[in-house]
Amino acid sequence: MKPGDAEEISPDQTFLEVPEPKPEEEKKEKHWKLPKDEEILAAIIAVINRNRTIESQNRLRQLVVDELQKNDPEYTTTPEKVRLLALRSGHVRVEVKTKEDDVGKPTKCPVCRTTMDRLKNKTLTGGTVTVEWRCPMCKYWTGKKLRIPRHYTFYAIEPRKNKRRTVLRAFQNQL
Ligand SMILES: [Zn+2]
Repeated sequence: MKPGDAEEISPDQTFLEVPEPKPEEEKKEKHWKLPKDEEILAAIIAVINRNRTIESQNRLRQLVVDELQKNDPEYTTTPEKVRLLALRSGHVRVEVKTKEDDVGKPTKCPVCRTTMDRLKNKTLTGGTVTVEWRCPMCKYWTGKKLRIPRHYTFYAIEPRKNKRRTVLRAFQNQL
């Protein structure tokens, strides 16, 4: 070891050994926390009651994540998870814009994952043919050409009104 060697390890190099990017790498590897469904649901209800109309799934997700992060800054969730919980909350109605596709038949509703009702028509030969699928929960429907959801708008509804509508429908079915 020559006397000059020690000086070559300059304070600058020592400084570089504690690289700036490290905290950023840690940020990238940050483990987001996934809140419980009930927590997401509470956030959805708060958000929809405040906003009444939310113009896209990504916007809904962003507002819900903002709300969740008031409790824990590491909370996150996915747009689909938020949509599915929103539609089960009884506080949210959805309007779906679709594009048509020739292929495929749905078994479950692509909007809310509920099993769809098949509406059949009698053919001339007396057989039946499925002409339409309808979701009993969110009112999505599709026919011979598959209607693929491509945009969602969410609206606040009063759960009580919803119940009244169901009661009314049950009453009408008895007539
Ligand atoms: Zn549905």
